[in-house]
Amino acid sequence: MHSYSTIQAIYSYVTKNREDGKRVGFVPTMGALHKGHLSLVQRAKKENDLVICSIFVNPTQFNEKSDLENYPSDFNRDKELLLSVDCDAVFFPSVNEMYPDEIKTEGTELGEIAVTMEGANRPGHFEGVVTIVRKLFKAVPADASYFGEKDYQQLAVIKHLVKSEQIPVKIVGCPIIREENGLAMSSRNERLSQMGKKKASLIYDQLKWIREHYFELSVSELIQAVEMSFDEHDEFNLEYLSIADENTLQPFEDRRTSNHPRAFIAVWLEGVRLIDNIGLQE
Ligand code: AMP
Repeated sequence: MHSYSTIQAIYSYVTKNREDGKRVGFVPTMGALHKGHLSLVQRAKKENDLVICSIFVNPTQFNEKSDLENYPSDFNRDKELLLSVDCDAVFFPSVNEMYPDEIKTEGTELGEIAVTMEGANRPGHFEGVVTIVRKLFKAVPADASYFGEKDYQQLAVIKHLVKSEQIPVKIVGCPIIREENGLAMSSRNERLSQMGKKKASLIYDQLKWIREHYFELSVSELIQAVEMSFDEHDEFNLEYLSIADENTLQPFEDRRTSNHPRAFIAVWLEGVRLIDNIGLQE
């Protein structure tokens, strides 16, 4: 597996391979890899001749300094995992390489999809995501790029970016990979205790409960019931629970408003912020 840390080197690698007729897939990550990330690499491997994974903990998308400082990282372990799924190259730039002048976001129009949920609760987060993804797409001009539905709103924001700025890359959304107990895999899960990981199964259980009862109860009844369940468990702090349309990401009250409903949740447990979502017509 090739390893590059400069934009110039990864750019030459990608363009040379594309000139040779190879189809290139790209998987951007922040490292601390798990099976969720690896599923994206595997999907990209199936659909392309070669796959590049980037590992970069992007400072501009963290709205809480402590979250950035505590973000797990182990490059050697990540490299081993990427080798195990036959990844062709890893791009591992420094902060200075990606932000040579100043560590700041670059102005962008995010659209109404970025206003709700993560957009409302993490000020500046999507501006940071768009800033780095735009830079990464310039450095790695791939045919297709793979993102997880775990960060469903992020996936929508990136689709919007590519469309509005006419970036020539296909965006592919991939399903959420879960632990056996249903907890969505996340690098942040490493900060939970064993007990916390067990208890966190409540999140997916509640999402499944919403899906099961979606056509029986009203949206406000569903939300109230889940809020009550979390209230009964002191260790959880529910930040938001929204039932929203998958395409517009606008929450709604009346079920008839949306043909593509999805439930979205953000919960705090042991000081760790966990997000998850579920399609309600699956
Ligand atoms: P991150 O390293 O958290 O920025 O994630 C990098 C990519 O992996 C993003 O597109 C995420 O949505 C995706 N991802 C993270 N966790 C999962 C998961 N459990 N299942 C599927 N994709 C995931």
